[in-house]
Amino acid sequence: MSKFIFVTGGVLSSVGKGILTASIGKMLQVRGYSVSVVKIDPYVNVDAGTMNPYIHGEVFVTEDGGETDLDLGHYERFLDINLSKLNNITTGQIYATVIEKERRGEYLGSCVQIIPHITDEIKRRLREVANKSNIDVLLVEIGGTVGDIESLPFFEAVRQMRLEEGYYNTLFVHIALVPILDVTHEQKSKPFQHSIQELRRIGIQPDILVARCRTQLDKEVKRKISLFGNVTPDAVFTSYDVDNIYALPIELDKQGMGDYIVKRLMLNNTMPNWSEWKSIVESFRDTKDKVKIAMCGKYTKLIDSYMSIVEALKHAGAKLKVSPEFGWIETTELEEDPLSISKLSDYHGIIVLPGFGVRGSEGKIMAIKYARENKIPFFGICFGFQLAVVEFMRNVVGYKEAHTTEINPDTKYPVIDLLPEQKNVMKLGGTMRLGSYKIIIKEGTLAHSIYGCNEVFERHRHRYGVNPEYIPILEENGLIISGISYDEKNVEFIEIKNHPFFFASQAHPEFKSRPGRPSPPFLGFIKSCIERKKAIQR
Ligand code: GLN
Repeated sequence: MSKFIFVTGGVLSSVGKGILTASIGKMLQVRGYSVSVVKIDPYVNVDAGTMNPYIHGEVFVTEDGGETDLDLGHYERFLDINLSKLNNITTGQIYATVIEKERRGEYLGSCVQIIPHITDEIKRRLREVANKSNIDVLLVEIGGTVGDIESLPFFEAVRQMRLEEGYYNTLFVHIALVPILDVTHEQKSKPFQHSIQELRRIGIQPDILVARCRTQLDKEVKRKISLFGNVTPDAVFTSYDVDNIYALPIELDKQGMGDYIVKRLMLNNTMPNWSEWKSIVESFRDTKDKVKIAMCGKYTKLIDSYMSIVEALKHAGAKLKVSPEFGWIETTELEEDPLSISKLSDYHGIIVLPGFGVRGSEGKIMAIKYARENKIPFFGICFGFQLAVVEFMRNVVGYKEAHTTEINPDTKYPVIDLLPEQKNVMKLGGTMRLGSYKIIIKEGTLAHSIYGCNEVFERHRHRYGVNPEYIPILEENGLIISGISYDEKNVEFIEIKNHPFFFASQAHPEFKSRPGRPSPPFLGFIKSCIERKKAIQR
């Protein structure tokens, strides 16, 4: 039987609930306990796939093709586990299931209500994940902020779970912001207190309180939070700013959080073994040198839109003892001011990011051309891969009107086109080519030296792909197709000769990158950025 830890947040969003949840998981893992994590997102979308990354951040793709909240990426990276689409629950999914059941007649004769039918479905889903993953502890992070109307049914469901699962099998952790006033440098606990009151009002008394604050909590503030929050002072912790997110579990454990949780859940308190995680955290600190990376995309104002790519680059950097420094290039600006493209020469490497639609796409193509011609390390991911093929077709093969039909459905040379199996797809939610697929790698290629093997699984999220009709002409003109899908239907990797590093992938290798075990293409890319830096210095 699994135990449950529920993590809630107060005052405002983005207080680091996801990182806290992942950190709690880590504290349990290093004590020998198996964990899994569910993220609850109280929006009505069925999944994150149909939301705007500008507002909601990256869509994280799981092995089984779930389009999920970016917090699942944190969980996978911190805990080194693979999650499934079941680990992200939304209001949309819950209501869809209940309404389907109602139509099937499963509630015949009863009036279907939020309590108990919606809350029962929420509890059923949580228990299903716990049972299927066969773990000691299931962590459940409730998205949004306490007090939001839309998250109420979820709070109500977990409140009921305390009664049903028992006191020692459930634990409520509440995190909220403790701001520091600029003028007086005072830590203010009042918003935190109010958010706890909000929780109590709906019947939840938190067991552990975590203050999100720039600095360690002052004794007096901690006392106040403990008093008003109705927990003992040893149950109040601070998630203060750390130099590296991966250091947070160690910091919280130092404050006694791991021991407290284990005791409270009546688990045997084994000695935590931090040695492996500590050496990973140290590797991020041991990076004196920097490499400058141009991140070319259209959501560059919200860095969360590219969370996993940023993390994958950091993982690769830590392995090679450099830290990546990001230059966010809004590619629409390259279109408006074509001469500004020369600023890319300052960088040690260029990434063209995943994306959708017309905005900024010509600017992305300009960046690819610049990287190819000026022999700057280049890594194109998904849309970045597709546009690299378009660029090659236009500027190397010479078909100036080549394009992807995503942007120009009437292009004369549709070198990137809707995947054949997508042609009859009408619904846009959850219908892309999603999740993990096997890629066969050609020997003697850059891809082969990057991965060091003949086949690899990477995760996908796309509707378009290389049009097979154009493969012969692309190859005749020197494009190397170094990876294809196991069923030979999809081009997966491309590269070119006589370039220090020009690699593009239809798949998203960033989703499988882990601290201490960076994704191979990211490692190869950073290696070649370091080479460029050395060459410039010489
Ligand atoms: N828009 C492209 C497609 O649907 C690429 C998607 C992506 O970059 N994830 O195929």
